[in-house]
Amino acid sequence: MKMVFMRRFPRALAGLIAVLAVLATSACATGAAAAGAKPGQLLIVTAFYPFQFVAQRIAGPHAHVTSLTKPGAEPHDLELTPRQVASIYDADLVIYQRYFQAAVDDAVAENGNAHGKDNLLDTADFVPLEDHGPLGEENDDPDDRAGTTNLDPHVWLDPSHMITITQAVDRRLDQIDPAHRADYNRNAAGLITQLKSLDAEYRTGLATCKRTEFITTHAAFGYLAERYGLQQISVTGLSPDTEPSPARIAQVQQLAKTHGVTTIFYETLISPAIARSIAGDLGLRTDVLDPIEGITSQSRGDNYIAVMKSNLTALQRANECS
Ligand SMILES: [Zn+2]
Repeated sequence: MKMVFMRRFPRALAGLIAVLAVLATSACATGAAAAGAKPGQLLIVTAFYPFQFVAQRIAGPHAHVTSLTKPGAEPHDLELTPRQVASIYDADLVIYQRYFQAAVDDAVAENGNAHGKDNLLDTADFVPLEDHGPLGEENDDPDDRAGTTNLDPHVWLDPSHMITITQAVDRRLDQIDPAHRADYNRNAAGLITQLKSLDAEYRTGLATCKRTEFITTHAAFGYLAERYGLQQISVTGLSPDTEPSPARIAQVQQLAKTHGVTTIFYETLISPAIARSIAGDLGLRTDVLDPIEGITSQSRGDNYIAVMKSNLTALQRANECS
């Protein structure tokens, strides 16, 4: 408990200072401008990359869209700067998912938003988080709420859930900025068409495979697996920075043999060392399955749709789909 207090206190203090700073300057509306919005543009603050992608595609030039999680950073253990806490308060729209990033939940709970609660969009209201069962190691970090409750945050890896999120963001933007409603509706419809064809590619691409089991280091693919009839076996749990025990590694190696698995997947933001050692012992390949928690120069594609297609190709190769 002491650790939790020590870790939370500076965050709360930073939030208070940030909001006092915002209140001192709010009369001249410098907040949105300070965050990079041009005159006439909305400021949309998103918690991490897939929400940033959706917001940019729908809002186009009508908004400046930021992500609280920087490219290449781990979204699971996000800490916010005072400036970011202030941007959550200032933004015309905040898009986040509760129970995933405690720092964002705390900033929203403590300060709210200057424009009102309709300007805070919690995607978990539209796509409820699910518990995907035993996911490897127990997470004993008391500060990791998703780990404690075992709720899987990775809803964006299911294109159907991305469609629901797109519709929710579109409706909220219509309400906040009705002058540009026609543009938002058209852009959202275009994105939904792309997401539907991505879903169709996954359905046909994974329909006939030699096996349904796949092994990944971090358990990010529960929603994707459920949607397309796959079985995810994860080495660690929902948080990517958990160290697996030797017992868990032995268990996973046994499962790999049982199911004739060809590939141990790892992800772009995390060291491939665990995957390589498991694969090496069994003479298997390693490959990337990207949880799309950020786009970097290492990503196999420059946006959500492109990386989802790379993930499909990797799954088809690993599971020998025809
Ligand atoms: Zn993750």
